[in-house]
Amino acid sequence: MTTDTLSKMVSYGHEQVVFCNDKESGLRAIIAIHSTLLGPALGGLRMWPYPSEEAALYDVLRLSRGMTYKAAISDLALGGGKAVIIGDPKKDKNKKLFEAFGRYVDSLGGRYITAEDVNIDVHDVDIIRTKSKHVVGTDRNLGGSGDPSPFTALGVFMGIKATAKNVYGSDSLKGRRVLIQGVGSVGAKLAHSLISDGAEVLVSDIDLDRIERLKKELPVEVVSHDKYASTPCDIFSPCALGAILNDQTIPELKCRVVAGGANNQLERPEHAKLLKQRDILYAPDYVINAGGLISVFREISGYSQIECEQKVRGIYN
Ligand code: NAD
Repeated sequence: MTTDTLSKMVSYGHEQVVFCNDKESGLRAIIAIHSTLLGPALGGLRMWPYPSEEAALYDVLRLSRGMTYKAAISDLALGGGKAVIIGDPKKDKNKKLFEAFGRYVDSLGGRYITAEDVNIDVHDVDIIRTKSKHVVGTDRNLGGSGDPSPFTALGVFMGIKATAKNVYGSDSLKGRRVLIQGVGSVGAKLAHSLISDGAEVLVSDIDLDRIERLKKELPVEVVSHDKYASTPCDIFSPCALGAILNDQTIPELKCRVVAGGANNQLERPEHAKLLKQRDILYAPDYVINAGGLISVFREISGYSQIECEQKVRGIYN
């Protein structure tokens, strides 16, 4: 295990990987610091019922490396890191678990700064904040920048408009069919912006409650969660989990553009070439989903919400 982890760290270029085991709370987590070259390694915490430790390690290594790229291309004085908790967010979340995680974050003395990611919300990071100051995305009432997902969704929306301009000659999304995979924090907000801009929105999610909630708010067409790749659309917007652009799905795609908020959409780097061969324009995930990182960076840099929004809108360029 150790040798294998170290050799993976060497191949991905990681500085440090911390395995966390807290007996009392049952916390099992991994914190990965990819780079601190440009600043402290900032990246959210994800909670997921990973089928194995190996799957959790694979995810956190890829996610943290992506954060290094995201901070660098967004010109933020930050490095890249990420953390995962192995567990079922519907059953295993509790105060002790997040307190224990907070102590681990604190033990790194600011080399790693945590925030929200999949299945982690402002309430959870506020608990972590009681044990460490190295947390962003905390409640606005506590002086934090709040939930980053509205800014992530705004950046993805601007990125989608830029791809439409490139492929169709106009950035208006009127009449364009956009399929969103995953209508959680980012995907649902994106659906609102797309519909306001005149797009036809199709949605797919494994959580049918989320689909039902969105259907009450917006006129969306529902696509079965196993048909997202084969359903014809103009723009496919992955907003769920990573590695969904792969040997199986790319040949099936019936779209001109892939542009979404999910991290690590390409299973392997060479899948970008496969998309190109199929004449599908791909907006790199770490470029267009940087809005949330730009937003939480406010807590460190001190720039205003207006400056933040301008920078996120600048993702278009
Ligand atoms: P979320 O947990 O709120 O939503 C994710 C949604 O995807 C859920 O509704 C879930 O049911 C769905 N999903 C999971 N697997 C699926 C599958 N196989 N098919 C269809 N739906 C599936 O998470 P989020 O905060 O909206 O983040 C979504 C993605 O965007 C993640 O990859 C995350 O890393 C990335 N991201 C989020 C932010 C942010 O600000 N929240 C910032 C940058 C990147």
